Amino acid sequence: MNLHEYQARDLFRKAGIKMPEGDVATTPSEAEAVARTLGGKVVVKAQVHAGGRGKAGGVKLAATPSEAAGHAEKILGMVIKDLVVGKVLIVPAAEITSEAYVGMILDRESQRPVLMVSASGGVDIEEVAATSPEKISRLAIDPRYGLLPHQAMALGFALYEDVGQVRAAAKIMTQLYGVFMDNGATLTEINPLVTTPTGEVLALDAKITLDDNILERRPDLATLRDETAEAPSEVEARRAGLTFIKLEGNVGCVVNGAGLAMATMDLVKYYGGEPANFLDIGGSSNPDKVVTALRIITRDPSVKAILFNIFGGITRTDDVANGIVGALEQFKVEVPIVIRLTGTNEQEAIRILEDVGMTALNGMDEAVEQVVARAKEAA
Ligand code: GDP
Ligand code: MN
Repeated sequence: MNLHEYQARDLFRKAGIKMPEGDVATTPSEAEAVARTLGGKVVVKAQVHAGGRGKAGGVKLAATPSEAAGHAEKILGMVIKDLVVGKVLIVPAAEITSEAYVGMILDRESQRPVLMVSASGGVDIEEVAATSPEKISRLAIDPRYGLLPHQAMALGFALYEDVGQVRAAAKIMTQLYGVFMDNGATLTEINPLVTTPTGEVLALDAKITLDDNILERRPDLATLRDETAEAPSEVEARRAGLTFIKLEGNVGCVVNGAGLAMATMDLVKYYGGEPANFLDIGGSSNPDKVVTALRIITRDPSVKAILFNIFGGITRTDDVANGIVGALEQFKVEVPIVIRLTGTNEQEAIRILEDVGMTALNGMDEAVEQVVARAKEAA
């Protein structure tokens, strides 16, 4: 789950990371009031779950409260990477002499939190990684010992020459590690970490991604979810208990079980197709889940054919068949559907489908080959 900058700032500040006071607004007049309270120059920042807001025009400096209101007017409602801006954050503007990057991610390869720092901050770190990877210093942290003081200092020296600034940066890295570990984060990031003309080291941006698995244990974090800021299809899928991830291809996939879902996607590619999504309807028997799954998939205009691949164990294949029939009664599906099912109650499932003129295949290869061909015909 992604947090907004203003929420991430709160967690950073609780961990002791120094960040200027600020507040959020949902209207231009609220923004003006916040700017007046803060006094002086401010920055008006779009609160969306996307990076690159600066480039997209979602971060603007304002010299007066009325200018802040004007920026808020433009930024509220703006669309950045398909997400609509519903809130802006107003913070005092800092004067910047340098911008660095400090971030921590959960690295699945080393199975450790990895701290990455770069003196080339303020820009997309992916861009730096692609064009000049030597400008990024990395450290995999052993969770038994945490980030040791000398390690933090060494990374601090990768950013600054001034020892005072190195110490300040090292302290922030240690705090960033604390936020990461204490909140079940998969990413904590400050970009940019800036220096000011007076030599101060300040965090001007805050980004946190939480592991969804922490939310059940931490209701305080779960309340930070902002469904209005998430992709509607993902919200709907989560509410229905589906695991759904949108991909680039045109073959919609409805599968039960994560392993079978991945095997299905591999097979779609093997036969020359591209999956449009990962979708696991889970192990339980529930026709409503299938209806929701079909609704989400058919809403995607890039989907040219849909594949059901169901292995009935705990999942009853007749429940899935009823879900398909139910969905077709509720809304129109314009693209061909290829169904493969086998296992629990398959005879009933086949009968349910045949009653409405549909057929079910038994072999996975056969079904995947067919759906790829249908998608190609339609494309
Ligand atoms: P992002 O583009 O979504 O990562 O948003 P950021 O919060 O990182 O802001 C983008 C850029 O705006 C930064 O890299 C800075 O160059 C600039 N910026 C942000 N806050 C301030 C500020 O307080 N003062 C000044 N001068 N520039 C700022
Ligand atoms: Mn940033």
